[in-house]
Formats: sequence, structure tokens, C-alpha cells
Amino acid sequence: LSPVITIDGPTASGKGTVAHRVAKHLGYHYLDSGALYRLTALMAQNKGVALDDEPAIAALARALPCRFDHGHVLLEDVDVTDEVRAEAIGVAASKIAVLQEVRKALVDLQVSFRNTPGLVADGRDMGTVIFPDAQLKIFLTASAEARASRRYKQLIEKGISANMENLVKDLIERDARDSARTAAPLKPSPDAIILDTSEITAEQAVQNVLEWFAK
Ligand code: C5P
Repeated sequence: LSPVITIDGPTASGKGTVAHRVAKHLGYHYLDSGALYRLTALMAQNKGVALDDEPAIAALARALPCRFDHGHVLLEDVDVTDEVRAEAIGVAASKIAVLQEVRKALVDLQVSFRNTPGLVADGRDMGTVIFPDAQLKIFLTASAEARASRRYKQLIEKGISANMENLVKDLIERDARDSARTAAPLKPSPDAIILDTSEITAEQAVQNVLEWFAK
């Protein structure tokens, strides 16, 4: 089996940026598992399926018609790269992510990303559920304020208006939902290294991960 590095943590902790750069540096594959929950939520929205209809959403997840191609995300051959990153889809994703049948339906797809020469997997339960035998497990944290201000900058850069107070509120609500759920609650694997990114740059976090992996 190819080596795996798992990078888990709350929303906007910098997981995506760090995981993507570590993968690039090592020439490894990259799994953005949140995108699979987002795609499932988008698919449900497009098909008019209610976000609490567990069997119907699990069925969509089990046969998710998605492709990842050079940084682009396609759903039923339509480029949804930007659409899938929208805040509303993130919120919808976190609602369907509480459904155990939906989580189970996405396991095989996530495991299938493990290929030579290796994989960097980013999410909430990569180290605890999907890749318990990973060579290196990282859990990124950052204060809600640090995470909200990162999200704020990203949105402003994209020309989307944003409000700090609402962002902090949304983050705290999303954290609570991710931590309180019974299905794969957000918590570090006991063997994960915890890295607080409130005061460090993404590049410093990347260097830390690469050093730990080289040991
Ligand atoms: O990481 P991202 O914000 O794209 O994830 C969207 C939502 O999907 C998260 O809020 C979380 O509820 C859910 N998720 C999950 N398990 C993962 C990845 C994401 O439950 N491995």
C-alpha cells in the first residue's frame, strides 16, 4: 500500500492549502474529501433531494458522477469548481455529513485515491476513519478569529462581499455541528500531531509537515 499523510482539522484551518502544497512537493496524489461532501450536497440540490433524506442522499453519494482534473472539479461533466466552494454549499455539505449512510457511501471512493507514489488526504476523519494506518497524521487547528479572517480575505479576493461577524458565527456553528455529530465527530486521532496555524504561515506549516514526514 502506498504511503498516506492525513491532514484533518476544522473549516478554514488551512488544511486545503497545506495538504495541496505538501502533495505537490512530494509528487503525491491529493484528496480533498470535503469536495466529495460538497459535490453530494450540490447534486442533492440540483435534483431537489431534501438534505435530510438519508437513503436518497446516500444513493447519490454512492454513484457520485464526479471527476477531478488539473484542479478542476466536474460533476456530470459540468465544471463546478467555483460553485462547489460557495459558502451555502459548505453549509449544506456539513448537514449531509452528519448522516452515517452518506459517510459510508463515500468510503470506497475516498480509499480509491490511495495510489503510487502516495497520497495526501485532507478532511475531518482522514486519520481516524478513512486511513487509520496513515504514515503521518496531522491535525491543524487555529482560532475562530484567525480562520474567519482567512476566509474573509479569500472571499474579498474573489470579489465576494463578506462580513467578519457573520463569518465567525458561521464557523463556530459549523465547528459545533462537525464536533457534536455522532457520525465521525471532528477530533484528532490519538496518534496525530497537532499543529496550531493561528500564528504561522501556510509555508511554515508545509515545512513542518515535510520535516515530520522525513523523520
Ligand atoms: O472541508 P470542507 O469545508 O470542504 O468540508 C465541507 C463539510 O463537509 C465540512 O463542514 C464537514 O461537515 C464535511 N466533511 C466531513 N468529513 C470530511 C470532509 C468534510 O464531514 N472528511
